[in-house]
Amino acid sequence: MIDTSKFNPTYLQAKAPEIFAIARHTHSVDDLRASLARMANEMMFEAFDDYDTISEGSIVRVRDCAKVMIRLMTRRSEDKARFSVARAIFDIAHNNPRQDLTPAFYAELLYLFLGLQGRGPGSTLADLHLIPSRYAHRKAAIERSRQLDELYAEMNLRLTKFVSGLDQEAVKQREARQQQICARMQASIDQWKDWTWQVAHILREADEIAQLLKLRETEYQAIQKARANGLPFGITPYYLSLMDDTQDAEKDRAIRAQVIPSPAYVEKMAEAQRFGHCLDFMLEADTSPIDLITRRYPSICIFKPFNTCPQICVYCQRNWEIDDAMQPGAMASQKKSTPPSSGSAPIRPFTKSWSPAATPGHERCRDRGHPGALGRYSNARTHPHRQPYASHPAYAHHGPSRGHPGPLSGKWTSAGRGGHPRAAQL
Ligand code: SF4
Repeated sequence: MIDTSKFNPTYLQAKAPEIFAIARHTHSVDDLRASLARMANEMMFEAFDDYDTISEGSIVRVRDCAKVMIRLMTRRSEDKARFSVARAIFDIAHNNPRQDLTPAFYAELLYLFLGLQGRGPGSTLADLHLIPSRYAHRKAAIERSRQLDELYAEMNLRLTKFVSGLDQEAVKQREARQQQICARMQASIDQWKDWTWQVAHILREADEIAQLLKLRETEYQAIQKARANGLPFGITPYYLSLMDDTQDAEKDRAIRAQVIPSPAYVEKMAEAQRFGHCLDFMLEADTSPIDLITRRYPSICIFKPFNTCPQICVYCQRNWEIDDAMQPGAMASQKKSTPPSSGSAPIRPFTKSWSPAATPGHERCRDRGHPGALGRYSNARTHPHRQPYASHPAYAHHGPSRGHPGPLSGKWTSAGRGGHPRAAQL
């Protein structure tokens, strides 16, 4: 487990003092947004300008982090996310209490700031770039070949950290698990291979799963809570057989996480249910020009004749509309799935006005008057620091000028140019 306790305001300020020095000397959140965006832009310019003294990987890090930073500072980002990162930095710098900020938030900010300096928690493959040879012809080719050997050795080292499902040991383990589950469920191998048997035996309760798989206490509690709150949940016996029957092994972490929700997820979902919040975070309701079809991309439509799945992925963007795994009645009615007859109204273009006839969605989401899960932020444009463009203080006042050496210049000089980022320690 990662120790997250160190990711707190004190640690963050100690690791990125220059950022918080700027924040402390800025009079408003809008000034801070402008200053940090300018700083990121300058650091990206410096990285590309000094391309011959820093690694490719560092340049890429700086570029990507600068892009993220600049976008985070925009009003567009704040309005879309209904959250102001600049406000959070401002509050941290001024010791204003922010109970809503989590260790994950502090960790993300920290790595963003470090990335702006070309640094990170570890080396990337891009850090191991090939160095152009001083030689030509065969001598250059031999040198390049040696560098490629080194690169391959590093890649191999990383790849072997992960177990492949095709490894003989893994294949044998899967077979043993399958036989074990078949025996406990009194199923034949033919039944096991029959998808209708799998669907008919979806596992939904923590206790029945616990008889087939060693569950961690948090997993057991989360499943029980999910069921108690009516959250969609289910795992097919086949998928369960892909999990290792031990609480300690970490190899199946991703497989478990796909379908077993975390306690925090269950708590948030249950809370949203309690308050009647709509969790249509991908705005399916607003991108469904007619019933049963979502159109979000130019050349792709999502057809939704069946509103459920044999098992429910925790991250599913359709969870807001799915009631349960293989829920009876999830098939669209004949009436709904009949295409409009010729001469009927054409698909209407997207409009901002809500049309229940076109996009019914889940009943929780039908009432557009409802503030939604993030409704408390619906007045984002009236944030205390938000003002109309014309009189926006950010356009009257500017933070550090172009001539400013850049808040992290000192660090950048020593960490970036002086040594390889791999040497940088957090
Ligand atoms: S729709 Fe896709 S993501 Fe959602 S539960 Fe089904 S398989 Fe998983």
